[in-house]
Amino acid sequence: MPDSPEAAAGQVAASSQANAAAASAAAAVAETPAPPKVKIRKHKQRACDERDVKGKVCAGHLKRWYDYPKEIERMVGAGAEIYRCEFCKTLYRPDPEQLPKSFTLNY
Ligand SMILES: [Zn+2]
Repeated sequence: MPDSPEAAAGQVAASSQANAAAASAAAAVAETPAPPKVKIRKHKQRACDERDVKGKVCAGHLKRWYDYPKEIERMVGAGAEIYRCEFCKTLYRPDPEQLPKSFTLNY
């Protein structure tokens, strides 16, 4: 937390810079589709359960996705365990009950 006027001013400047960067990033990706949906995998879920406009279940394979781009990293965090549907590209976070025993929370 800022405890001096200088620190507070610095923080304001930093956040307006971040806004400007976000705005230019948004402009740069304007022609790409909306960001992918991120869902939580259900227990033992291995296939995508997204439905298309006709109500048909996608059923695409959920594949571990390691080399996701920066936009995704901003959504899920660096080094996150993330899966992606091979068909509709919906992203899935792991089932919280199925996390490996070695997993430790870093908040
Ligand atoms: Zn899918």
